[in-house]
Amino acid sequence: MTLYLVGTPIGNLEDITFRAVRILKEADIIACEDTRVTGKLTHHYDIDTPLKSYHEHNKDRMTEQLVEVLTSGKTVALVSDAGLPLISDPGYELVIAVREAGIRVETVPGPNAALTALMTSGLSSYSFLFTGFLPRKESEKKAKLETLMNEPHSVILYESPFRVKDTLMAIEKIDKNRRVALGRELTKKFEQVITLPVDRLLQELEISIPLKGEFVIVIDGQYETDEADMWWHQLSINEHVEYYME
Ligand code: SAM
Repeated sequence: MTLYLVGTPIGNLEDITFRAVRILKEADIIACEDTRVTGKLTHHYDIDTPLKSYHEHNKDRMTEQLVEVLTSGKTVALVSDAGLPLISDPGYELVIAVREAGIRVETVPGPNAALTALMTSGLSSYSFLFTGFLPRKESEKKAKLETLMNEPHSVILYESPFRVKDTLMAIEKIDKNRRVALGRELTKKFEQVITLPVDRLLQELEISIPLKGEFVIVIDGQYETDEADMWWHQLSINEHVEYYME
């Protein structure tokens, strides 16, 4: 009786681990956001485990049911439509309930859009903040951006194709020279990751970045000195690497 939190691809179907496929095959139930989306993945990998929907709107009821299933000795694998469950996706409440019931929780790591964008962007990966989607209300969004852009950390945001231009304009109003990376359709056929000062990125948006598909925004940190170099120095003198691959 274990709840597995399983990472699945964010676009490219090959981005799934051997362990994830095995766990999805061996589980008694796969809890997923949309059975049609996960059905494509399970079909591709010949996985015939029954799918049950677990999403924002039924999560209270389903949490109870899944805890019962687990308590009866069965294994449940939780996935989301893409990437890691719980990361801007449902699952947190289930993990709390399952842990409270004294049942084991294990994560099977996998792809994630935020980290994929950060790694490709050329912006500092030594210290970063991930904050998911910004508030929709203009005033709240502006206030949150101002706070986030004052920090010495790269800031990673998820954004919809309908709001990405507005968000870049809000960033430009705060600091038009700030370097920003726009990751679009990561791991997919038309992947783009473009890093530019935000005013130039907005010009590029009109020319070579179609406003469709999925987007991640990474904003460079506000550094006092050459803080990115400082991070590198601190990390390179950290010798605690013995646990690697154990
Ligand atoms: N759980 C997912 C993860 O681990 O990345 C994130 C789910 S969140 C509901 C969906 C958002 O993630 C999208 O609106 C987009 O901002 C971002 N995203 C997911 N897949 C992406 C991709 N292939 N390229 C760019 N952004 C992506």
